[in-house]
Amino acid sequence: MAKKAKVVLTDYVWESLDVEKKTLEGLAELVALKTKTPEEFVSYIGDCDALLNTYAGPITADVMARMPGCKIIARYGIGVDTIDLEAATKAGIIVTNNPTYCIEEVVEHAMALLMACARKVVLYDRLVRAGRWEVPPGKPMFRLSGNTLGLIGFGHIGQQMAVRAAAFGMRVLFFDPVIEEGQHGVKAKKVELRELLREADFVSLHPPLLPQTRKMINDETLRQMKPTAYLVNCARGPIVDTDALVRALDAKVIAGCALDTTDPEPLPDPHPLRGRENVIITPHTAWYSEQAMAGLQAGAPGEVRRVLTGQWPVNVVNPAVKGKNRAGL
Ligand code: NAD
Repeated sequence: MAKKAKVVLTDYVWESLDVEKKTLEGLAELVALKTKTPEEFVSYIGDCDALLNTYAGPITADVMARMPGCKIIARYGIGVDTIDLEAATKAGIIVTNNPTYCIEEVVEHAMALLMACARKVVLYDRLVRAGRWEVPPGKPMFRLSGNTLGLIGFGHIGQQMAVRAAAFGMRVLFFDPVIEEGQHGVKAKKVELRELLREADFVSLHPPLLPQTRKMINDETLRQMKPTAYLVNCARGPIVDTDALVRALDAKVIAGCALDTTDPEPLPDPHPLRGRENVIITPHTAWYSEQAMAGLQAGAPGEVRRVLTGQWPVNVVNPAVKGKNRAGL
């Protein structure tokens, strides 16, 4: 009988690995870890054939050099900012992600945060818990209809945000260097970043974390927003310069923000973003629902199974590796 392959799972945040075990049954041994950094998992990867990854990283060229037999790094989520893609391509390692398992969840979460800002839901709930029953602390509030939503990043999530916002009567602008207006039949006006920031009552972030998007929301871009505008971040924490955001909130440069992703994660306690009336924070939960969970767990191990059985995987994020990879695919 052929020797079983070895698959190392760097980290996971769910209770059961039944899906992973079933997907890899008869093919590979699963070594499941709960690590945060490469220092914690490198001693397990020297003879691995595949790496499954949730949040642990960064997976750099050095880490890749420590796993000479690894043919695929399969990320459970959408963003692949934990992995140096160029280094993976150079090393002949296929990298995959799971691009659609939680689109609706993130859209619903971002809309929930946007609406919580608009209707001051969290503020009022805190007041009621403290024994108060009054309208004025939430003033001023404005109806969504006629307001402008500015979407930075107009991919899967951004486009579905536009559809939901239109149902509330919002005008939608987007900034995206790749997607053209009307390309996917979703109604929204393509504008430059400066115009979006100047016009939007809500700015919602949906680009990947790339060198070009790291800290793209900074002192300068925050100053371009309206003082009545809210920032929503369900993308990646480092897209926002956290210190600049604190400065902007202190100086009332914007009205408030709602963040599902922060930099760092979690935010230290205490931290100047915590405990503010006009700041809502959720602990990177936008992706989660029971349905998304099922899609999440099936995705990455499925890609590993494909590669280890000689098939080209479905969601490759470094396609340049085709024909030049360790799996011979
Ligand atoms: P996507 O790849 O479909 O869309 C991203 C869009 O951003 C693309 O259209 C791309 O052209 C655009 N973009 C690239 N560079 C840009 C720039 N400099 N400025 C503006 N736009 C730029 O991805 P998606 O499915 O819409 O997901 C977006 C991001 O959401 C992911 O990369 C991930 O980091 C984040 N996410 C977060 C959670 C969560 O739980 N909070 C869950 C899933 C995804």
